[in-house]
Amino acid sequence: MPPLSQFFKAAGLARPLHAVIIAQPEARVAMAGNRTGWKPMKQTLKALLGPNLQRIRTAQMMPKLISKSFGLLERECPICGYQGHFTAEIHFPDVYRFDAVCPQCTSLPRTRLLWLAIQRHGLVTPSDYLLHFAPEKSVSRFLRPMPGRYVTADLMDPVADLRINIEAIDLDDDIADVIVCSHVLEHVDDRRALKELFRILKPGGKLLAMVPMVDGWPTTYENPEPLDREQRKFHYGRSDHKRRYGRDFLERLAEPGFAVEEVGFGGAESLAYGLLLGENLYFCRKPLLAAPAS
Ligand SMILES: [Zn+2]
Repeated sequence: MPPLSQFFKAAGLARPLHAVIIAQPEARVAMAGNRTGWKPMKQTLKALLGPNLQRIRTAQMMPKLISKSFGLLERECPICGYQGHFTAEIHFPDVYRFDAVCPQCTSLPRTRLLWLAIQRHGLVTPSDYLLHFAPEKSVSRFLRPMPGRYVTADLMDPVADLRINIEAIDLDDDIADVIVCSHVLEHVDDRRALKELFRILKPGGKLLAMVPMVDGWPTTYENPEPLDREQRKFHYGRSDHKRRYGRDFLERLAEPGFAVEEVGFGGAESLAYGLLLGENLYFCRKPLLAAPAS
């Protein structure tokens, strides 16, 4: 377990609370004033602490957060068979999700969802050519042995087999049997990317797509203004995202010609395997016959 002082430092509270209060010159003046009673004292403290108040509250919550970080309940990882507590997924300060990471194989909720969907629905076969975009290690590990040919693709990652821009893919038409594209489309021009993915899949080929989605929203939110990194963090939750998807994501998937199905798991399995409640995988199939030109 990391020392408590690291968490205090991360919260911007390197010094003890009493030192922060006494170090404020205004505090010394106010303390010496003639206001008496608990209420005025509380208001004075609040006014003086100002921006430090939230940091102090965060610091007070730290012991609770630390214990939760090591898991609330026992779960099971369907990929590696681990049984026990999952740890928190932390990308400080944007993402903090409890019961998320399998400590044995580092799988995330979305990794376990993908694995379960592939296993239950037989989505990958030994004769397939599978193209995996933006490959995460914990996914590659179990995906690599499943198809006959496994190829990774990424625009930036130097260890990927192919350096590919998903919006303009330098590959022939109708070559892949399966494409795995998890948490990629929210970072790019998704309409261009989906057209390209459709093009390079063989007729009857499958796209397995996942994105973060606000299930209660009927439509996707995209701000028409050009946004900088900080603004994108405000609007989309992450500085490298381009939108927040709503339920119309399914319609976007269907635009190039895919037949789209949702694959998800119910309450009991979602809890047992530590899935993100309500998260689905989108199974998109390219038709065997091309649609007649209109
Ligand atoms: Zn695991």
